Amino acid sequence: MNAEKKNCDLCGLAVEVEGFQLNTKDGVKQFCCEGCKGIYEMLHGDDVLNESDTSD
Ligand SMILES: [Zn+2]
Repeated sequence: MNAEKKNCDLCGLAVEVEGFQLNTKDGVKQFCCEGCKGIYEMLHGDDVLNESDTSD
């Protein structure tokens, strides 16, 4: 068996293509498409972590 299939964290559809994901305070969110990722980012912008922010 493969690793568990992810479901889009916005619309719930199976994620067939990886790459549409966001790091959030609640963990990594995975989306089925760029659209869902964008909408989630708009709705939950405060929870999205800046993935390029590695300075500490
Ligand atoms: Zn989706």
